[in-house]
Amino acid sequence: MLTGIQITLIGGDARQLEVIQKFSELDAAVTLIGFDNLQYSYSGVSKLALTPESLEKTDAVILPVVGTDDNGVVESIFSGTELILTGDHLAALPSHAKIYTGMAKPYLKKLSSEHNIRLIELLERDDVAIYNSIPTAEGALMMAIQNTDITIHGSVCMVLGMGRTGLTMARTLKGLGANVLVGIRKPEHFARAWEMGFTPFYLSELAQKVTNIDLLFNTIPTMIVTAQIIAGMPHRAVIIDLASKPGGTDFRFAEKRGVKAMLAPGLPGIVAPKTAGRIIANTISQLILEDVTTGRNAQ
Ligand code: NAP
Repeated sequence: MLTGIQITLIGGDARQLEVIQKFSELDAAVTLIGFDNLQYSYSGVSKLALTPESLEKTDAVILPVVGTDDNGVVESIFSGTELILTGDHLAALPSHAKIYTGMAKPYLKKLSSEHNIRLIELLERDDVAIYNSIPTAEGALMMAIQNTDITIHGSVCMVLGMGRTGLTMARTLKGLGANVLVGIRKPEHFARAWEMGFTPFYLSELAQKVTNIDLLFNTIPTMIVTAQIIAGMPHRAVIIDLASKPGGTDFRFAEKRGVKAMLAPGLPGIVAPKTAGRIIANTISQLILEDVTTGRNAQ
């Protein structure tokens, strides 16, 4: 249990509701900032405005998946006013406090380092990325079904990259009966893809491999689906780019050539906010419980 531990959530979306629920169940004292329009009420949860004073007793600050933008603005779908996190807020935190977020932009990294506050980026963790790959693959599948007039079963699908998202995507497509080509660059990934029943190929052969595909799912966060690659694809092919913005596809050329291509960021929060929220809630609560057990939360 987290009795006596003060958790402060600043901003966020539907995913944070699972986080609030989890910490309320664990008996933590939860403060919500930027949730003025939230109608639900939870036991042990209070609402405050974003001021340095409201953070003075906080053990853990929980920010949305994208912590702040480049100017310190914290997104909140539950707030009528803009939330801007500044140095004054971090200066008010106790020295043992930690900030949890999905990923931090340079603004937040600089602010926490200047104030010597530990920043934990959950999406850097392997376990979180693997759990998140499940709603990501389901969301990508939804987009594929909506944008094609064929079944996934029997289609020719290409997945670029065999990391945490690529592997789940490939396995999900194969489970539905697709012929799955997987583009990789390391021999050990070639061997694993072969062992799992995919058709692996080296990315150096990408141009020759795209000539007969129905769907391409990219997970490589660098320009890989270039104009030259798109020029070799059939017009029926649909590109779903899962890599973080700006993706790895030449979208301008795809549009010019009449190949449907879409960037699909943030799928877990869109297609499965409850599951995505639980992934965040379970991970943060586990980390805080470990800190409490080992005495690292002592003031
Ligand atoms: P990951 O585990 O690091 O996998 C990335 C893959 O890209 C690896 O197979 C890696 O190959 C390959 N790669 C990276 N740079 C490359 C390059 N220059 N040339 C060839 N291959 C390269 O990452 P992940 O967790 O799967 O995430 C992949 C991307 O999806 C990220 O941009 C992430 O932000 C994004 N994402 C999006 C969503 C969404 O909702 N759309 C959800 C989750 C993640 P090696 O192993 O050989 O290095």
